[in-house]
Amino acid sequence: MSSPDTAPTGAAEQAQPARPTPYRRRPPLSDEERKERFAADMDKTRNEQACRLALAIAKRITPEGILCPKCNELLTKGRFKIHPDGGWKDHKNGCHGDAVSVLQAFGVRTGDAVRVLIGKPTSTPIEIPEDAAALAAAFVGTKSKILRDVFNGVLIYGQKTGGVQAAQDFYGTWHISPEAVTESGAVMITDTRQFAARILERFGEEALLSCGLFTRASNGKLYCLINDRFPVVEPHRHPVSGDVLYMQFRASHAQYQRYLEHKAGNREYKGSEKIISLRGAPKSAQVGTGLPRIEQLPAGSDVWILEGFKDMLAARTGGLEAYGLPGVGIKPPEKICQLLARHNVFVAFDGDEAGARGRDGVKQVAEDGTEVVVTEGLVDYLRRHGVNAQPRELFPGMDATDILVARYASGKATGSPCGCPTCTRMRASHPQWFAGG
Ligand SMILES: [Zn+2]
Ligand SMILES: [Zn+2]
Repeated sequence: MSSPDTAPTGAAEQAQPARPTPYRRRPPLSDEERKERFAADMDKTRNEQACRLALAIAKRITPEGILCPKCNELLTKGRFKIHPDGGWKDHKNGCHGDAVSVLQAFGVRTGDAVRVLIGKPTSTPIEIPEDAAALAAAFVGTKSKILRDVFNGVLIYGQKTGGVQAAQDFYGTWHISPEAVTESGAVMITDTRQFAARILERFGEEALLSCGLFTRASNGKLYCLINDRFPVVEPHRHPVSGDVLYMQFRASHAQYQRYLEHKAGNREYKGSEKIISLRGAPKSAQVGTGLPRIEQLPAGSDVWILEGFKDMLAARTGGLEAYGLPGVGIKPPEKICQLLARHNVFVAFDGDEAGARGRDGVKQVAEDGTEVVVTEGLVDYLRRHGVNAQPRELFPGMDATDILVARYASGKATGSPCGCPTCTRMRASHPQWFAGG
C-alpha cells in the first residue's frame, strides 16, 4: 500500500491537480441519531398551525364543518377542537389525535406526514391545496379557546405576582376604592419582562401572535402588548361564570399624566389615553365590564352605563351600580341587553360630542320632514332590545372619575381638601368647580 508519504515526490506533485475532488459521503446516521432527529421533527408538528395544515391537506375542512379524520362524521362548529399543542378532538364521538394522525388516516406515510408539515421535501409528492392557508384560517373554534386560555393565563399570572394590589394602587391615584378594583378583576403586571418570557414559554409564539398579545415588528422582534407602557389589564367578564371574554389595556400612569397635562393646556402633545385590546377576539366578546355584579342585583335596580373601565370603577366607589362599555360606539350584545332589561338603565357617556353621538345617535331630517336615523344611538338600541333606558348626565360636564376626584379635591369626602397630585392638578385645571370653597 502506498501513502503520500512513501510515494515519489515528483509523481505526487504531478497527480495532485488532476485528481478530482473526492465525493464525501456523509457517514450514515446511527439508529439512535435517526430516532432523535425524527423526534425533533415530530415536535415541530405539535402545534395548532400544523394541525390546521394537516386538515387542509387531508381535505377535512368544508364550508359546513370539519370531517372527523377518524370517523368521517361532519362536525359543526364547536364539536371539533384543536388545542395549542396541535392535538384535535371530535367532541361528539370522542375521536382524537394529532396533525400526523390526520395525514396518516389520509394515506400518507408517517415520515412524509412529518416532512410536509414542517416544510421539508417528501419522498412521494403530496398535494398542498393552494388555499390551505385560507381554509385553515377559516376554521373556527380554535382561536376563542386559545384566547380564553391566554386571558386566564394573564390574569392568573397577574394575581400571583401581586398585580391586584398594584392595580389598586394604580386606580387609587384617582381615589378609586380598592374594593371596586378587586371586584372588577383588574390586575397590573408588575414585572412585564418576566411576564413576557413566562407567557411565551407557556403558550408559544404562534398562539400568542394569533391572538394578538404578541406582535412582530418589522425588525423581526417579538413585542408583548403588556409592557411597561400598558401594564394594567381590564377584563370583560362573563356575567354568570366570571370567565374572561375580552381584555383591554390602559395607558400607563405616566402616559395618562401626559394626557392630563395636554387636557389642562400645558402640553402640546396629546399622547394617548387610548385603550388597546387584543385583536382576534370577536366583537361579541366585548361584553363590557362590571357584569358579574349587575347579574347579582335585584330586579329594578338603577344601573348607570358609562364609557370606560375607570369611570365604571369610580361610579362603583361612589356607591352607584355601573356597567362600563369600552367606547361610545360599542353596543352590548343581545344577551347582555336581556340582563339589563331587568333594571332601570341610565346612559351617561362623556359630555363631549362623541359621547352625545354614542348616546343619542345621528339623525337627519329628510325633505318630507321625517327623521332618518344615520347611526343608531345606544339609548335607542337598548330600547329596541327591551331595555328601559334613558339618557342622563351624572353631573353636567363631569365624568364619574371627575366627580370622585372633585369630592376629595374640594374636601367634601374627608373634611379637608386632599393634597395628592391628582387633586392638586384638578383644582388648578378646573378652578370653576371649586369656586367659593
Ligand atoms: Zn370522530
Ligand atoms: Zn386626592
